[in-house]
Amino acid sequence: MAQREQIEQHLATELAVERFKDYGPNGLQLEGRASVNRLVSGVTASLALIDAAIADGADAILVHHGLFWRGQDGRLVGWLRQRVARLMAHDISLFAYHLPLDAHPTLGNNAQLGRQLGLQADGRFGEQDLGVIGPAGTATSAGALAHQVQATLGRPPTLLPGDGRPLRRVAWCSGGAQGYFEAAIAAGADAFLTGEISEPQAHLSRETGVAFLACGHHATERYGAPALGEHLAQRFGLAHRFIEIDNPA
Ligand SMILES: [Zn+2]
Repeated sequence: MAQREQIEQHLATELAVERFKDYGPNGLQLEGRASVNRLVSGVTASLALIDAAIADGADAILVHHGLFWRGQDGRLVGWLRQRVARLMAHDISLFAYHLPLDAHPTLGNNAQLGRQLGLQADGRFGEQDLGVIGPAGTATSAGALAHQVQATLGRPPTLLPGDGRPLRRVAWCSGGAQGYFEAAIAAGADAFLTGEISEPQAHLSRETGVAFLACGHHATERYGAPALGEHLAQRFGLAHRFIEIDNPA
């Protein structure tokens, strides 16, 4: 059992929230009851996750993708009203950590994704140092790395195989980090792995010879929230459950 405020203070420090320029507010996004015993973690504060957390008796929800983003017009109507209303009706707090959860050196999405794939970073690159790079693991070709991704994440990546060079250095950044591809190449990567691909990366891969693997936004970001939830459970003696809401994107 913990006080909501204790959790918020601990996470602000642990995730170094102040260090990041982000697209939405990191921390407590919606204030529910003062004490927390049951915590549910998930990737996105979707209505499906909120309903599952209600069914689980959660006092608080911890997510990577919260409710509020730059560019929204601020009105609580339609789907956003529904999500907020559901949380408020059940007095459930919502904690959301975006870039700070990507970047945390052990609990973050990048660290946890690397762990799943047997990759250990020894360097960082790109805007706000969010990209990570390290020696290739057991997969020493782009094709082998794609197979490993499929076996680990349960879905085949979109693969641009590059020029067939052996992999010595692999860079990765979870989610929608396709814009980091050039920085990954500059950092010395033989392959770059992220969630999504846009049109330019296919040409860049062909023209630079560096492999590009789009492994799914959700699939690459579903390891940080449960790791952080488990960390909180240990520290504060909470009951914790990660709830996976499938997402093909
Ligand atoms: Zn994301």
